[in-house]
Amino acid sequence: MRKTGRCIAVAVALVSYAPAASAETKTGVDKLYILNCGEGVAGDISRWSPGVNVGKSMDFADNCYLIHHMQGWLLWDTGVTDAIAAMPDGQAPADPRMTHWRRPKTLASQLEALGVKRGDIRYVAISHTHPDHIGNVEQFPQAMLLVQKAEYEWPNPLGVGRFKPEHPVTKLEGDHDIFGDGSLIIISTPGHTPGHQSLLVKLPNTGALVLSGDAVHFKSNWENRGVPSNNTDKDKTLASMQRIAEVLANEKAQLWINHDKAQRDSLKMAPAFYD
Ligand SMILES: [Zn+2]
Repeated sequence: MRKTGRCIAVAVALVSYAPAASAETKTGVDKLYILNCGEGVAGDISRWSPGVNVGKSMDFADNCYLIHHMQGWLLWDTGVTDAIAAMPDGQAPADPRMTHWRRPKTLASQLEALGVKRGDIRYVAISHTHPDHIGNVEQFPQAMLLVQKAEYEWPNPLGVGRFKPEHPVTKLEGDHDIFGDGSLIIISTPGHTPGHQSLLVKLPNTGALVLSGDAVHFKSNWENRGVPSNNTDKDKTLASMQRIAEVLANEKAQLWINHDKAQRDSLKMAPAFYD
């Protein structure tokens, strides 16, 4: 009797273990949505490429990217704060050469329309800690933040924390393969800020993409290798652009530039998606 009981216990253990194991070994990304996380007008784009197009203004986009991996959802960047959606004239910058932001749609409403709950977001990875990228991080208090240690520890000029100290965080030091299967790889691209990062995404049909963050701001800024006047490190900025160029060549990847509105207008927005 005792022997039989033990055999059943072992069999049950094996059965209950098997599905859990396969859930954790599911690999790959199957969906990427582009969300509207802000639209703006930059007052003077020579701010990003000194000496080029002095005094010329340009429409800017601000994108978030919602990515479904077989092991969970990841949000790349969170845009300007949803509070701007309620401001009739948007948010004017202190320096008129910078960007006047509007928010046609909140991030929250776009997630809701897709049926994705805040609690479903497993990771929030941010390119860097400027306000047009971290405006809604605290809508996801349970999500693991993926941020470079150098960025997390960068002293804030305003003297206030960018993240709540209790927000769960993984402080990265360099590149990071998020799910360990090569489908989502954070690429360290410092220079715009001390711990700026970009994201390599490998989609089964669309192929490989690099999401720029602000390693570059728009197409001509990329082509002329412009280093914005307010970047924290010029040499690192140029080295990061070179690194991105190498990743694009090695992976045969497209470069999706976050703030390039002309490029974004050529791409499909949520609820359409890339697979
Ligand atoms: Zn930005």
